[in-house]
Amino acid sequence: MISARNLHKRFGEHEVLKGVSLEIGKGEVVAVIGPSGSGKSTFLRCLNQLERIDRGEIVIEGETLVSTDAAGTCRYVADKEARRICAKMGMVFQHFNLFPHLSVLDNLIEAPMTVKGMSRDAIVPVAEELLRKVGLFAKCSAYPSQLSGGQKQRVAIARALAMAPDIMLFDEPTSALDPELTVEVLRTMRQLAEEHMTMLVVTHEMGFARDVSTRVIFMDGGDIVESGAPATFFAAPSHPRTRAFLSHLG
Ligand code: ADP
Ligand code: MG
Repeated sequence: MISARNLHKRFGEHEVLKGVSLEIGKGEVVAVIGPSGSGKSTFLRCLNQLERIDRGEIVIEGETLVSTDAAGTCRYVADKEARRICAKMGMVFQHFNLFPHLSVLDNLIEAPMTVKGMSRDAIVPVAEELLRKVGLFAKCSAYPSQLSGGQKQRVAIARALAMAPDIMLFDEPTSALDPELTVEVLRTMRQLAEEHMTMLVVTHEMGFARDVSTRVIFMDGGDIVESGAPATFFAAPSHPRTRAFLSHLG
C-alpha cells in the first residue's frame, strides 16, 4: 500500500530524514514511536505531500508519487495526479484541525463535496453512518467548540474516513487529550484496525502499539533504527537506543 524508499528531507542545514525506507502492506497497522524531533511527523507529512522530499521514492498502491533518478534529481508527478494519489490517504492530526465555523456533519461532508464533487444527498448518509460508527451521531448539528477533545478527535477520524481513504495516517492523535478521553479515541482506532484498515500511527501510547499494531517502528535522529513485531520489539529490543527510549517511558 505504501512504499517509501530512501527518503531524504532537509530544512535548511538540518537533515530531518536521512534515508527512511518503509514498506506497508494492506491491513497492516504500523506504530511509529521515537523521541521528539526524530522526524516522525515529517515522515508522515512527506507521505501525503504536506512536505516535499529532496530525494527518494514514494509509491502509493502501485502509483509513483515521486521518484529520484540516477543523477539525484527528484521529480514529483503533476499536481493533479499527486493530489489524486494522496487522496488515498486520510490524515488525523494531534490538534484535530476541524473547521470551527462548520457543524460536525458539515465538517464531514465538506471535502467529499468540494474535492470529490459528490452531491450532498450522496454524502450525507455516508457521513451519518460514520458518525454513528464513532458514537457521535447525536452531535451532528453541534459545532466543534461544543465538543470535548476526545469527541473532536473522533469527528476528525470520521471526517478523514468520509473521503473513503485506503490508508489512514495518524500523527499523535491522543497526545492533546486527557487520559479518559484518550481511551475513547483509541477504541475508535482499534475498531478501524479490526476492520483491517491500513494504518500508520505515530503514538506515545505503548499499550496501543503493543496490543493493536502489527509492527512497531522506532525512529531516532531521522532514521528508522529498529522495527519488529510488537511482542519481540517490546520484550527484547535489539538496539541500545530503542532500549534507552523504552526504559525512559517508565
Ligand atoms: P517528531 O514528529 O519526531 O517530533 P518532526 O518531524 O516534527 O519530529 O521534526 C523533526 C525535526 O525537524 C525537528 O528538529 C524540527 O524542529 C524540524 N522541523 C520540522 N518541521 C520543520 C519546518 N517546517 N521547518 C524547519 N524545521 C522543521
Ligand atoms: Mg511530531
